[in-house]
Amino acid sequence: MSSIPSSAERSPAAAPEPVLSVRHLRVEFPTRHGTLVALDDVSFAIAPGEVLGVVGESGAGKSMTGNAVIQLLEPPGRIADGEIHLQGRRIDNLAEDDFVPLRGRHIGMIFQDPLTSLNPLFSIGDQLIETLRTHLPLSEKQARERALALLSEVGIPAPETRLDSYPHQFSGGMRQRVVIALALAAEPELIIADEPTTALDVSVQAQILALLKRLCAERGTAVMLVTHDMGVIAETADRVAVMYAGRLIEIGPVNAVIRAPQHPYTEGLMASIPAVEHDLERLYQIEGAMPRLAAIPPGCPFHPRCPHAQARCERERPDLMPAGQGQAACWLHDPDDPLPRRAGSEKARPRRENAHER
Ligand code: SF4
Repeated sequence: MSSIPSSAERSPAAAPEPVLSVRHLRVEFPTRHGTLVALDDVSFAIAPGEVLGVVGESGAGKSMTGNAVIQLLEPPGRIADGEIHLQGRRIDNLAEDDFVPLRGRHIGMIFQDPLTSLNPLFSIGDQLIETLRTHLPLSEKQARERALALLSEVGIPAPETRLDSYPHQFSGGMRQRVVIALALAAEPELIIADEPTTALDVSVQAQILALLKRLCAERGTAVMLVTHDMGVIAETADRVAVMYAGRLIEIGPVNAVIRAPQHPYTEGLMASIPAVEHDLERLYQIEGAMPRLAAIPPGCPFHPRCPHAQARCERERPDLMPAGQGQAACWLHDPDDPLPRRAGSEKARPRRENAHER
C-alpha cells in the first residue's frame, strides 16, 4: 500500500489515521444538455471504530457518496475531481480489476434490501463460507466454523441448524443479520451501510442498529451509515454529516448537532421531527423542495428555502467553517463577517431538547 505523502493533508481533527478520507470529491454526470454536478467539494474522514451518519433528503447525494467510495457509480457518472483514501492508500483512481479485491475484504457493504446481497439459489452457509474463503486463507472446515461463529455473533439462534437454510427461509430481520455477518466476514476496515434498516419494522431496526454498532466498535471497523432518518443517526452515529444538493453543509458530533444544529437546513430537519410527547403543535416544514441537479442555485444552494437568506447568500457560496462543536457551510458563521439572523425566523429552531428522541 502507498502512504499519504504529507501529514498536512490528513484530517486535522482525527488523531488516529482515518480509515476513510474523502477529499474535495466531485462527481459529475455528463449529459446531452450539459454536465450535472451530483457531488461538489465533499470532504470528510472516518476514524477506526467510528460511525459517521450521512443524512439528507432524497437527491442530497448521500448514497452517491457511498457509491463513489466503492466505485459503483451509475454510468455515465464519474469522479471528476478530489481523492478517496482507504487507510492511507488512494483508491479513487484504481482500475476496476484492482478495486474488486477491496470490496468485501477491505470494504463491506450493507444495503437496504438484504436480498440484494444474498443469492436465493445458495444456502446461507455456502455464501458465508465462499465469502470467507475468497478473502481469507481458510480451509473448508475452518471457514465453516467461522461461519457458525459469525451467525452466532449476529444473533441467529441455533446457527448449526440454520447454516443450510436458504435466504427465503429467514425473516427480513434475520436476513439483514446474515448480511451483517457477510459484511463482517472478512473483517473489513470500513463498512458502508446504505439505509440498512429502512425495510425493517421499528423494533427489529433498533436491534439491527445496536448489533451493527457493537460489532463494529469491538472490531474497530469504521462505518459510513447512509440514511434519511435522523432517528437512526441519533441512535447509532458518533458524528453526523448533513448533505444538501450534493454538498456537505454541516458535520459534527451527533449530540451537538441534534441539540444545537448550526445550519438553517439542519435546524429545519430537527424541528420537523416529532417529539415523544406528541403535542398537538404542527410540525415545522421546510418551505420548498430540494433543487434538481440541473437547477442548483448559485451562492448557497439552500438560499431559496432559508429563512435567514440575504443578498450575500445568493451571490457567494459558503464553504464549511467552524460552527458550534463542528462545521457548517453558512454565512451565519463567517468568523470575519457573520451574517445576522433575520428577526422572526426562529420558527425553524428546534422546539424541544428531546426533539431527537423517538
Ligand atoms: Fe441561509 Fe445564507 Fe446560511 Fe445559506 S448561507 S444557509 S442562505 S443564511
